[in-house]
Amino acid sequence: MVVGAGPAGSAAAAHLARAGVDVLLLEKSGFPREKVCGDGLTPRSVLQLVRLGIDIDTPGWMRNKGMRWVCGGHQVELDWPRLGTLPDFGLTRSRHDFDELLASHASASGARLRTHVKVTGPLTDRSGRVVGVAAVRGPEGEPVEYRAPLVVAADGASARTALGLGLVRDERRPVAAAARRYYRSEARTHDPYLELWADLRCPRTGHDLPGYGWVFPLGDGRVNVGLGALPQQRRRRPVDLRAALEHWLDRLPEEWGLREENADSPLRSAPLPMGLNRRPQYGRGLLLVGDSAGMVSPWSGEGIAQAMEAAEVAAETIALALARPAGPRREHALHQYPVEIQRRWARYFRLGDLAGDLVLSRFGFRPVLHPRVMASPRLLGVLARLLTHVSDEPAQDRVDALLHGILRLVPVPRR
Ligand SMILES: Cc1cc2nc3c(=O)[nH]c(=O)nc-3n(C[C@H](O)[C@H](O)[C@H](O)COP(=O)(O)OP(=O)(O)OC[C@H]3O[C@@H](n4cnc5c(N)ncnc54)[C@H](O)[C@@H]3O)c2cc1C
Repeated sequence: MVVGAGPAGSAAAAHLARAGVDVLLLEKSGFPREKVCGDGLTPRSVLQLVRLGIDIDTPGWMRNKGMRWVCGGHQVELDWPRLGTLPDFGLTRSRHDFDELLASHASASGARLRTHVKVTGPLTDRSGRVVGVAAVRGPEGEPVEYRAPLVVAADGASARTALGLGLVRDERRPVAAAARRYYRSEARTHDPYLELWADLRCPRTGHDLPGYGWVFPLGDGRVNVGLGALPQQRRRRPVDLRAALEHWLDRLPEEWGLREENADSPLRSAPLPMGLNRRPQYGRGLLLVGDSAGMVSPWSGEGIAQAMEAAEVAAETIALALARPAGPRREHALHQYPVEIQRRWARYFRLGDLAGDLVLSRFGFRPVLHPRVMASPRLLGVLARLLTHVSDEPAQDRVDALLHGILRLVPVPRR
């Protein structure tokens, strides 16, 4: 059973169904529905879409060549690198369509999708093992129970299922916040680059924003504009995102049209749980995937790629585990899930947490995108791969070798 049909849940359900597992996917909303997001997909997300068998050549997908970084009056365009194991392009698509498409794909793959089912908590047996979930269904909130040998919690940042089992978040890991708004902008909607601004200010404090702003083209006449920020270390207070966004938008050229009269949605914000902030990712019959396990990257705020990648790992682990008899041998197989998640991201996220603590939350991105760095294509190339985790594994060029070498020096955090 999978709780939540966002990218993590729908990808997990699709992979499970494709592996021949009977899977129930429970979602509290109906589709289509909004999800507050920047709608930006890096090559890592594209890879996951391809692995799921989603046709990304149909209308509605907007391809991008790379990123455009803007800082201190300079701007640089960085194409996604040509790597052996990842696509060399990114995509955008509004979550309104994207999530519906993924959920339909899970359904078409054989998962039983049930919408308007809000899970209220896990059901446990006398030993404390999860044996299903309690939920309320439909407009009347009819109480129901669903039982399954394994439950995947993919219910996003609210993490209701995990919390029901007492899995609270690790307070030492950061939770950033981000806000976005859609605008109609013919001038920017077909931009071939994801544009990122690194020198934004918090107008109330005068400090640099400990994060960045984005303008992501959607190709349908709209752009997704927003900003994300870590809590400001020096003041230990959350940033006023609305004020920072308004201040930034005033700086942008009039002809882009990012003004109140062209707004196509309200400004909405949501938390970004980062750095694997909820553990264990497997225990007592419950696997945590995506935002419910805090899988957002502390380097960039990206979370869709990890949500879908972890979903695939979880599905593979479950399919292998279900091939064993219930009991210690199956449990042993299931415990490989957190092992694999740690192997992929623990060091990278730990280094990101450190960069966040020491630099980004104090001074923002401005010192990182120093004019000397902006003037050096080689340095920028390394930085871009570090920030977006776009590299081959095993390493196929010197940049990959350097990044992997640095990560090997980071102590492995506990599971
Ligand atoms: C403003 C903003 C901008 C962002 N921009 C980007 C970006 O450009 N690129 C990127 O990669 N990431 C971005 N992220 C992060 C990204 O949105 C998340 O990491 C991603 O959505 C995580 O996917 P998920 O499936 O784990 O959770 P979610 O997408 O939150 O999905 C959880 C699902 O579970 C359902 N659910 C919740 N509770 C229950 C319940 N009790 N019962 C049943 N169903 C339930 C929800 O309705 C939802 O469908 C952004 C986040 C924010 C806030």
